[in-house]
Amino acid sequence: MLNCQNVGALILYLGLEKVLCRQVESHLGTRGKPILARLWTLPLKRSNAVTRLGSYSYQGEYPKAIRLQFAQEDHQLRQTFLHEIAHYLDHQTRSNRRAYRAPHAESWQQWFRIIGGEPGDATSTAISALYQRRLKIVARCERCGVLLKRLRALSRGQNYLHRNCGGRLVPLDLEQHETPCR
Ligand SMILES: [Zn+2]
Ligand SMILES: [Zn+2]
Repeated sequence: MLNCQNVGALILYLGLEKVLCRQVESHLGTRGKPILARLWTLPLKRSNAVTRLGSYSYQGEYPKAIRLQFAQEDHQLRQTFLHEIAHYLDHQTRSNRRAYRAPHAESWQQWFRIIGGEPGDATSTAISALYQRRLKIVARCERCGVLLKRLRALSRGQNYLHRNCGGRLVPLDLEQHETPCR
């Protein structure tokens, strides 16, 4: 699964080809064939993101890639994959493909259902845990002393206020909080 270079390879690995071909062809007829063919060759990329489970990228009317965070649970990975495939199908079948607005509108929801997507919020305990582990202490509130945790440092040259008390958040130099190994 981790060696899948394109979307078609993962579709085969997950055994989704029958459902996808049947559903897409029954909804689009012969128009579905080139859309399916293109889906098969769409690049599949590995993502290390911890704030999203997957994404579909495109440039204007052209599809570019599907990205997936492979650390999510098997069942959730399958659902995320269907979510992104539904974006591809929605984008490629819209009358105006140049501007893909409102990506989770009714037309996307329909595609998601058609290809076997399950309703409900996508969550992954594994990815949430990864997210928690990657948080770093980046600042301290001058007023109340609370430590702010974030994935990335605050941008330099910008002022931030602590939402709860209004105090100024002072960036901390990350290096001085590292524990020496020796
Ligand atoms: Zn989406
Ligand atoms: Zn504060």
